Amino acid sequence: MSTLIKKRESYNPLLWLPKTINLDFKIFEHYTLVNSNIIFYKNTFSDFKLESSIELNGIDLETLSFQISLDDKPFHEIDINKKFINDELISISIPDDVLKVNILSKVKILPKKNSSLEGLYESNQMFCTQCEPEGFRKITWFTDRPDCLAVFKVRVEAPLLFSSLLSNGNLINKGVINDDNNNPIRHFKTWEDPFPKPSYLFALVVGCLELSSSTFITASKKIINLEIYTEIGNKHLTSHAMISLKKAMEWDEKKYGLEYDLKCFMIVAVSHFNMGAMENKGLNIFNSKFILADPSTASDADLNNIEAIVAHEYFHNWTGNRVTCRDWFQLTLKEGLTVFRDQEFTADMNNKGVKRIQDVMLLRSIQFPEDAGSNSHAIRPDEYIEINNFYTPTVYEKGAEVIRMIYNYLGEDLYRKGIDKYFQLFDGKAVTCENFLEALQIGSNLDLSLFKKWYSQSGTPELTIKRVIDINKITLNIMQSVNKKISDLPIPIKISLINQNGHLVKFSINKLDLKYEHVLLFTKNTAKIILTGFKGSVTPSILRGFSAPVKLNTDLSISEYIHILSHDNDAFNKWDAIQNLYLSCAFNKENITLITNVLGKFLLENINNPSLISCLLELPSRTAFENLYEFSDPIEIYTLRLDIMKKISLNLQEIFEKIAHNLINNNIENSEKKGERALLNKILYFLILIKSKIATQLAQNISISDNMTLCLIGLNSLSLNNDQNSLKYLNKFYLKWINNSLVLEKWFEMMSRLNLKDEGINFVKNLLNHEAFDFKNPNKLRSVLGTFQRDNILLFHANDSSGYEFLAEQVALIDDKNPQAAARLVLPLTRFANYKQSRKNKMKEALSQISQNKTLSNDLSEIITKALQ
Ligand code: ZN
Repeated sequence: MSTLIKKRESYNPLLWLPKTINLDFKIFEHYTLVNSNIIFYKNTFSDFKLESSIELNGIDLETLSFQISLDDKPFHEIDINKKFINDELISISIPDDVLKVNILSKVKILPKKNSSLEGLYESNQMFCTQCEPEGFRKITWFTDRPDCLAVFKVRVEAPLLFSSLLSNGNLINKGVINDDNNNPIRHFKTWEDPFPKPSYLFALVVGCLELSSSTFITASKKIINLEIYTEIGNKHLTSHAMISLKKAMEWDEKKYGLEYDLKCFMIVAVSHFNMGAMENKGLNIFNSKFILADPSTASDADLNNIEAIVAHEYFHNWTGNRVTCRDWFQLTLKEGLTVFRDQEFTADMNNKGVKRIQDVMLLRSIQFPEDAGSNSHAIRPDEYIEINNFYTPTVYEKGAEVIRMIYNYLGEDLYRKGIDKYFQLFDGKAVTCENFLEALQIGSNLDLSLFKKWYSQSGTPELTIKRVIDINKITLNIMQSVNKKISDLPIPIKISLINQNGHLVKFSINKLDLKYEHVLLFTKNTAKIILTGFKGSVTPSILRGFSAPVKLNTDLSISEYIHILSHDNDAFNKWDAIQNLYLSCAFNKENITLITNVLGKFLLENINNPSLISCLLELPSRTAFENLYEFSDPIEIYTLRLDIMKKISLNLQEIFEKIAHNLINNNIENSEKKGERALLNKILYFLILIKSKIATQLAQNISISDNMTLCLIGLNSLSLNNDQNSLKYLNKFYLKWINNSLVLEKWFEMMSRLNLKDEGINFVKNLLNHEAFDFKNPNKLRSVLGTFQRDNILLFHANDSSGYEFLAEQVALIDDKNPQAAARLVLPLTRFANYKQSRKNKMKEALSQISQNKTLSNDLSEIITKALQ
């Protein structure tokens, strides 16, 4: 393993580029043979310094033969042992006058022994691949970097019992192979993908799979076959994914004018997968959790996730595959853009306001903490050790926020012109974030150069706006900073003014344009802005729709927040007002009474918008409360947050109980009633916190529902009691779903949240020995260890460090098998930036324990080293 810091500025194009690769896979029970034939040509146009050698990456390959031919002359064997630059890279120098190079290699690989879940590996008797970002080098020798686009032809041969033999593109040949007695024993298929692609988009699947298929007719009347492959017995759980796929295809045609480009679009659901899903050309591979679902096995949240992720991977076909990244530093080029696209898709399919709130919730609860900790990085990082550690909320979610700012700045029409230009200029190419901005700029004819700053800035910017109020005039003093240092990022600030009657009023900024809503592009470190053109006293609604990914400090008063909550027509700012109100309760307990009065009224008035109310009933995350203090403690904050909830609940008990009752007696299982269920979820949670008997009864009733969402609402609320009764219901659930591994992941999650008297952490530790637990399955690891760290605050942060030590031990064990999973699961242990010194020390101690007894993977050591610095 080579530990090397890779730097963005060191990018160098290659002189020798692979143009075609023919692969031949022979699958045997204990090993796989991979023959490859790569043709390289010289890259003629480039102004960078070029190496006159061919570089090939390979990891864990047993090379059986390696031959080369120059300019179509006969092949000769090369001793690759003499060509190693390091143990994962060989370099073959090529004489200057040569124009074409052909490399033939035969390697043997061991998919069954591959527990890293990258490259070719086995998951429940199925062979499948994950190549992004650098997994292809675990399959065969190749220039495994995204700026090498080649046409792939793949022959795959396996025993007959593997009925599905899949790869990218179009099926061009198939056949059966007989044994000596002329009995069929093996078969093969050959696939060709006409679109040149980088190796990270390669996919191969070999298994005995069930197929559900459908068709889609594109705007230009091409018929596309849609195929979803699953393990046997799961076919009936694919219809939601199939419907989602069709919606996504239609949306991309309407919104972006983008059609699908192959005859067939395939999705395979696999049980063992490190991430959500992967956009391999024409052959997406998914974590089965994000495909298999119906209302009896999956919650509303699961169904929403499926719709969004199926769309996300589909959208990558253009933003990622047709136009790809030049190097991995540019990851946000495809991920930020594609997340933005899937967010807009979800908003169009569902409720725009609520979707925006949910996206900001996610950003604040996951990305902000990342940006405040030891692995804070720009959406386009300058350096990394392990690129797998950069598939982060920053690159994805903050990346999407940057695209959103540009989208809002250009407006729908110019944005679309810009995007059209992007495909016109770069289809079939591997490009950079500069190329993207350049295309949008040419297409829209607007200058976007300022926005480049967002690509290299880390940390969450803070925007401070203070008012000087005169008669019929407000002066806004605006200031920005990042990590306490002055900054000058372009920050679009969307503003409206709300009058005493709760109506928006027209106003002008610096005497220009009388409008109800302005977008001020703030580009300096400080500015003075004058609002006039209105009469009387008004409340500003600032950063509407969360127009920039910043922390906003204002001088708004409690009663102004209440005014915004009651009257703003911007769903996000309504929600954000109540977030600020909740936070204010940390310092002023009397605000709780004030808030509950408003909330009570609000609940009754808006009961026909249950999704929005359920958002309003979500308190800011624990980290948001932690950030109110210079030094905080997770346990104190956890308790504080719960206390606020309990007080609110006591004040609203009667209303809550009435609403809960009405909801449950009103056809709550109906598939349309997602919003009602979300609201019920929040309300029961509040009520159980104060031990409401009515709520406990209701929770017990729904915990045996056939609707998974209701059942989970019931069980999750009951679990708050941490008693034998909750365990009894969890047990029933377990017995009901004993044969459904995906549903048992939910059971593991709920079990990991428990903090039972006399058992404490041992209860959670024992889950790892449960017969349904699978140490090789990342979903199971996340269900137990991920949930434990996120939700079992009292045990994870226990003062005797037992929670930290437990995690440290497990992470070290996981690292031996699956470094990517280990590097993710360790993250909560590194989030101590604003904790008191004594706690910091305990968490750091656990981190250093991990590295003491063994050599760490690059993945894990990069995260731990940064945290301990
Ligand atoms: Zn993606």
